[in-house]
Amino acid sequence: MTQNINTIHTPCYVVQEEKLIENLKVLSYVQKKSGAHVLLAQKAFSMYKEYPLIGRYLSGTTASGLYEARLGREEMPGREVHVYSPAYRKEDMEEIFFTCDHVIFNTPNQWKQYKALAQTVRAKKEKQGESLSCGIRVNPGYSEIETDLYNPCISGSRLGTPTGQFLEAWESGDLEGIEGIHFHTLCEQGADVLERTLEVVKRDYTPVLKQLKWLNMGGGHHITRKDYDVERLIRLINQLREACSEASPLTIYLEPGEAVALQAGILVTSVLDIMENGKKLAILDTSAACHMPDVLEMPYRPEILGAGMPGEKPYEYTFGGPTCLAGDVIGTYSFDRELQIGDRLVFCDMAIYSLVKNNTFNGMPLPDIAIERNGTIECIKQFGYDDFKGRLS
Ligand SMILES: *Cc1c(COP(=O)(O)O)cnc(C)c1O
Repeated sequence: MTQNINTIHTPCYVVQEEKLIENLKVLSYVQKKSGAHVLLAQKAFSMYKEYPLIGRYLSGTTASGLYEARLGREEMPGREVHVYSPAYRKEDMEEIFFTCDHVIFNTPNQWKQYKALAQTVRAKKEKQGESLSCGIRVNPGYSEIETDLYNPCISGSRLGTPTGQFLEAWESGDLEGIEGIHFHTLCEQGADVLERTLEVVKRDYTPVLKQLKWLNMGGGHHITRKDYDVERLIRLINQLREACSEASPLTIYLEPGEAVALQAGILVTSVLDIMENGKKLAILDTSAACHMPDVLEMPYRPEILGAGMPGEKPYEYTFGGPTCLAGDVIGTYSFDRELQIGDRLVFCDMAIYSLVKNNTFNGMPLPDIAIERNGTIECIKQFGYDDFKGRLS
């Protein structure tokens, strides 16, 4: 049954397919003009119902471990699967090698541990016309991220091998068999930050890159944001490839998460109650802690369709979730009219880092998942008590 925002069961994440396609077209343009392969970072958006669509525009998926890798392989057939993990478990490794085209290790030590297995699996895969290429994540020691939680170059970071250690391992021959390097040092940033980052990468890694097959520039590229300089990104990629292709042409990968589904989804919620305690409070059927944890983690104040900043419009409310956590507060908003119990509210930009991060803390039901196309909404998944009980024992 097709529905609209006023008739769907709430809470519900609604992914807006037309907006998703707009983003995919921009990313596909980047691929065409730069020759780079663009991969969906599933960590941000794993709505696999849309993977066949995404696979028509992008080169594949990237994963943080076996489960995401399997999901990419199963749901986006015929496309590339890449994986990076800060450390792999022995029992997963063989399946990871068989599942993935690229496997990225965090340290030379992990490579040493799994190199022999990689070579065995690679030989078997090559007989079937498949490939396996291994790389190392490096920490170039340069980033412009102000929130420590999201800064992989913070002092003491476990993410990636620091440049000095990498070069030492490279020169000693410990990285023999490694075909590429990966860095991920951006977060919601523009091509200007990438340009400054690449200055550092080129300064330290050009001789290495000339002998490698690929460079993966990670995620954090906010390519589909309105003010992103797409032409500058394309120019940077083409210049880098020219400067660093020697033994073989350098293939460049980008693995954006956010940029794939930026502004391509909403979370629809209903007002359950309104009360007063020094200010007007409204309790919603959605929870920051359970359904949009980045609101508390980041933290940030998500936009609500039609609402203003506190003080901007005459009727002001602070919204909270139905959990028992005092801090389950979403933010304060103002409206042109008084809210009523049963009113619907629309939280914007809720496709990314939401469905993948939600949880059933406090026995909270999980929101439904729906797709909006041609102006109508189709609910594709509903959750119930079994989803709560099933992950407990
Ligand atoms: C998080 C992450 C991404 C995706 O980042 P976005 O900020 O969502 O673009 C890509 N690669 C790696 C290694 C990551 O950790």
